[in-house]
Amino acid sequence: MSESLHNFSDVVAWFLAGSLLSQSESAQVLSWSRSNPVEAVSAFAEAIDLREAIYGIFGHLAAGRDAEDEHLNHLNRALKEAPPRGAVARTGAGFRWRIERDQTMAAGLLAPVVWSAGDLLTGKHLGRVRLCANHQCLWLFYDDSLRGARRWCSMQACGNRAKTQRHYLRRKAQ
Ligand SMILES: [Zn+2]
Repeated sequence: MSESLHNFSDVVAWFLAGSLLSQSESAQVLSWSRSNPVEAVSAFAEAIDLREAIYGIFGHLAAGRDAEDEHLNHLNRALKEAPPRGAVARTGAGFRWRIERDQTMAAGLLAPVVWSAGDLLTGKHLGRVRLCANHQCLWLFYDDSLRGARRWCSMQACGNRAKTQRHYLRRKAQ
C-alpha cells in the first residue's frame, strides 16, 4: 500500500475530497496550519496514528479476527477528545454533522473520521467492511453493492488487475 498522505495539507485535501470539510472550512484549517506549523505537524502525526488504529480495528475484523484493545483504546481516546456532536449542517446534497472547531483544531478535524468509525463499528453494516482480495493492495473498503459480494476495493484498479492475471494464467496453462 503506497502512502498518499505526506503532510497536513494532504490530510486536508483528503477531507475536502471526501466532503468531510467544505471549501471554506478547508481554507480556514489550512490557514490555521500555516500560522501554527508545530501544531499542524503533530496534528498530522495524530491523523496518521489514528488511521493506523482504525485500519487495525477494521482490518482485524475483516480478516475474521478480534480487534485489539490497543487499537480500540486509541479510537476511544480520539472519540473522547472529539468535540460534541452538537448540530447538523446542510451540505449541497444532504446533511452532515457540524463541527465546533476552536483551539482543538486537530480533534475537530478528525472528529468526522472517529465518529464514522464508531458508527460503523456499532452499526448493522460492520460485515460490509472488507479487505481487498488483491494481496498486494490490502485496502479496506466498504461494500455498498446491492448483493454485498464485492471482493476488490475498486473494479478499475484491483478487480481488473485480478481478471487480467487470471486470464494470463489461463493462457499460460493452455
Ligand atoms: Zn484493492
